[in-house]
Amino acid sequence: MDRIYFDHAGTTPVTEHVLNGMLPYFRENYGNASSIHGTGRDARKAVENARRQVQHALCAENASEIYFTSGGSESDNWAIKGCAMAQKEKGRHIVTTQIEHHAVLHTCAWLEQQGFDVTYLPVDKEGRVTPEQVRNAIREDTILVSVMTANNEIGTLEPVRELAEAAHERHILFHTDAVQAAGAIPVDVQSSGADLLSLSAHKFGGPKGIGALYVRKGTLMDRLIHGGDQERRMRAGTENLPGIVGLGIAITDACEQLEEHALHVRSLRDRLQKGIFERIHGVLLNGPVSAEERLPGNLNLSILGLQGESVLLRLDLEGIAASSGSACTAGSLDPSHVLLAIGRDTDTAHASVRLTLGWENTETEVDEVLRILPEIVQDLRRTQGYEIH
Ligand SMILES: *Cc1c(COP(=O)(O)O)cnc(C)c1O
Repeated sequence: MDRIYFDHAGTTPVTEHVLNGMLPYFRENYGNASSIHGTGRDARKAVENARRQVQHALCAENASEIYFTSGGSESDNWAIKGCAMAQKEKGRHIVTTQIEHHAVLHTCAWLEQQGFDVTYLPVDKEGRVTPEQVRNAIREDTILVSVMTANNEIGTLEPVRELAEAAHERHILFHTDAVQAAGAIPVDVQSSGADLLSLSAHKFGGPKGIGALYVRKGTLMDRLIHGGDQERRMRAGTENLPGIVGLGIAITDACEQLEEHALHVRSLRDRLQKGIFERIHGVLLNGPVSAEERLPGNLNLSILGLQGESVLLRLDLEGIAASSGSACTAGSLDPSHVLLAIGRDTDTAHASVRLTLGWENTETEVDEVLRILPEIVQDLRRTQGYEIH
């Protein structure tokens, strides 16, 4: 049997349609979008077309509110550092949560070393923060609130619109890391009210190394990458033309197929979840119990008595790709900060396995995992002398 890929929160395969759309931009249309000759102008056209595609996907008012970056990590870094630097005379306090991606958390930690103050809001047992928490955390010197749209480990959907409202009541900017949400659930900057939004192509069928930051018109921002005048002097560097074209196609396709894909992925995930709970005892679900409040493809479980890593290694031997915690922290021995934040103890956090499904997965693959996983768990538990109480 072919390999089974259940790690779509880590990355996704580039679709055929995206790849074919990108290919001409490596060899035939290889222009530098800043050049004034025809080859350059063709490249510029492609870049601006992709910018409009992202604009439409996010329901942004203006294409000029979209900036291309090297991915989700850069977008998060830029949103937070850019606002912090531009507004440091106004205040030096930032509000975020304990369950953000490290691209947000480590950026905030760096800002703390530069003299900023950061409040890391705790979350409830399902990973949610409330507008009330945001209101209570805001101070006179708060300049930014940053809360992710959907969590990459446990799939929790945050009440972004209400959180943005809470920030706006005090005239404070709101940033959201929508890297997991974009392409999986509707993301709309008009209705959510986010002033800044990060996304990354490789999480929804696009290539790696390209992303975007939405910046609402009028938002005061410093640049992060210094150099040439690209991206309206806000982000230097020759545009990643094939990547930008790929991002534009990927986000357009993902939005067009969003409902169909979400239905498919959710039904596979539900089948997998139900099957695992029927076949394996001593399993805890990490994240919202209600499927509606979780990303369609997300399933994060703690298989009690085991190390998530050992389960992964055994799954990998069978050709099944899964993850424990996030891909970025794989290999680290620290338990997931997200699982600790929702109240799991260290052992339960270490027992976590994350299965994230994508549109190209099939019921046959789910059933194959449902056949293999219980055998692996039984075998590992037997060798480790684990008993169900
Ligand atoms: C993957 C991910 C990122 C990082 O995006 P890259 O494009 O890989 O840098 C940031 N935030 C979240 C929630 C993610 O899932």
